Amino acid sequence: MQWNRALELRTLPAVHKLLADPQVQQALAGLPRATQTAVLNEALAELRNMWTAAEQGMAPPPSAEQWAQWTAVPALAERVRACVQRRLQPQLRPVLNLTGVVLHTNLGRAPLSERALTAVWAVGGQYSNLEFDLGQGGRGWRHSHVEARLCRLIGAEAALVVNNNAAAVWLTLSALASGGEAVVSRGQLVEIGGSFRIPELMQAAGVTLVEVGSTNKTRLADYERAITPQTRLLVRVHTSNYRIVGFAEQPALTDLAALSQRCGVPLYEDLGSGALFDFARYGIGDEPTVQHSLQAGVDLISFSGDKLLGGAQAGIVAGRRELVQRLARHPLARALRVDKLTLAALDATLAAYEAGTAQQELPVIWMLTQSYADVAARCRQLADRLRSDPAVAAALTVAEADDVSHVGGGALPETALPTRVLRLTSRWAGAQQLAALLRTCGEPPVIGRIGQDAVVLDVRTLLPGQDEPLLASVAAAAKAVADGLYGPPTGQTH
Ligand SMILES: *Cc1c(COP(=O)(O)O)cnc(C)c1O
Repeated sequence: MQWNRALELRTLPAVHKLLADPQVQQALAGLPRATQTAVLNEALAELRNMWTAAEQGMAPPPSAEQWAQWTAVPALAERVRACVQRRLQPQLRPVLNLTGVVLHTNLGRAPLSERALTAVWAVGGQYSNLEFDLGQGGRGWRHSHVEARLCRLIGAEAALVVNNNAAAVWLTLSALASGGEAVVSRGQLVEIGGSFRIPELMQAAGVTLVEVGSTNKTRLADYERAITPQTRLLVRVHTSNYRIVGFAEQPALTDLAALSQRCGVPLYEDLGSGALFDFARYGIGDEPTVQHSLQAGVDLISFSGDKLLGGAQAGIVAGRRELVQRLARHPLARALRVDKLTLAALDATLAAYEAGTAQQELPVIWMLTQSYADVAARCRQLADRLRSDPAVAAALTVAEADDVSHVGGGALPETALPTRVLRLTSRWAGAQQLAALLRTCGEPPVIGRIGQDAVVLDVRTLLPGQDEPLLASVAAAAKAVADGLYGPPTGQTH
């Protein structure tokens, strides 16, 4: 094969010859010279790699006829066209989330609502009143657009939006407690992931962390004893992604708020998810709403825009006007400020809450509150359609099963939502191989989970309108299995 390879590779046309060919030129039309050369090299490398793969036993070597066909100009021009298309398509692109994890941070967390997308579209492509007061005809404040709506919804005096909640926590600590002490319960020294750790954040903000209580129990008296003239802030952190159960205690929020008033030290709560929707009323978890915390007397609160709120990535800080103003005046507020696209998406997301249509409009809330029966009916329909496609049925076995979905994003870690899933298996490909084909053969890619030697596809996180794309991408993966890309179906009867 070595000899064969060397001989065959010599028949590959040179780059300069290809560049002179009219069909290839057409495929490359209008591209800068550097892109043209890079694309041609890529197309030729694909052909060379076939021999490398054959040498490594990963694929059969091309036959003489195949090789002659692939290296002829029409096929080469077609290959170049495909390379151009791949190179120019967006690198950040949609995928189908069938993991059943609603707030999947790696897959972009909250999908935006139609209303939010429309707002982004409108504001992104035109000038806007971002920092322009239309009434006065002079300079405005970019935060004013969402501030009023937020304050109406959650009952705060003032609000500020920054890049994400991690930025909100850092800005709050820097602006209100730098050079002083902040008191935190030992049961709330959380790590959120991606190196966000409360003790390290305190250090970075120049705040002395004063730990009180124990891992499982902290009482009001523990906070009381820790307060000194250097205390700038009482900090309460929502333990989003874990729970201490059993012999555990934390003071009630109202008691902590009363203590903060008595001592004249503001109480700040990092609420993490920031639910405006009362999920507990639907039997989903025990997440406190933002409104609830402010009513209990918290002076300042911060939360994410793209977790349970269901909007764009952002960190929202809200509460007493005087405190919010100190944050807004901090020199680093400018470094953390949000873009107009984020503000447009957030404003429109909040409008859905004001309209009372959050559950229908916001994909995150719709997915979380979908009933088992609705998910199961959709799962049955998809399974039936896959089974009745002969090409899919020849390569894959499609079963249905009960399972659980998760909220994700470090929210409600103990909440498991009953769901219905598709279980795909193939006699010719293992679950890992099948999962890889689902990720790479179709457009959009399908992301599932592996469970008990099957690819598990949880229908709960499939958005409306994604049934057809899912069926097409599964069909593409089935075709790859049938084509024998992964272990040829040799020796099979029937
Ligand atoms: C998620 C979370 C954060 C970080 O929020 P981002 O918006 O992802 O930056 C901070 N604190 C808590 C308690 C969280 O749950």
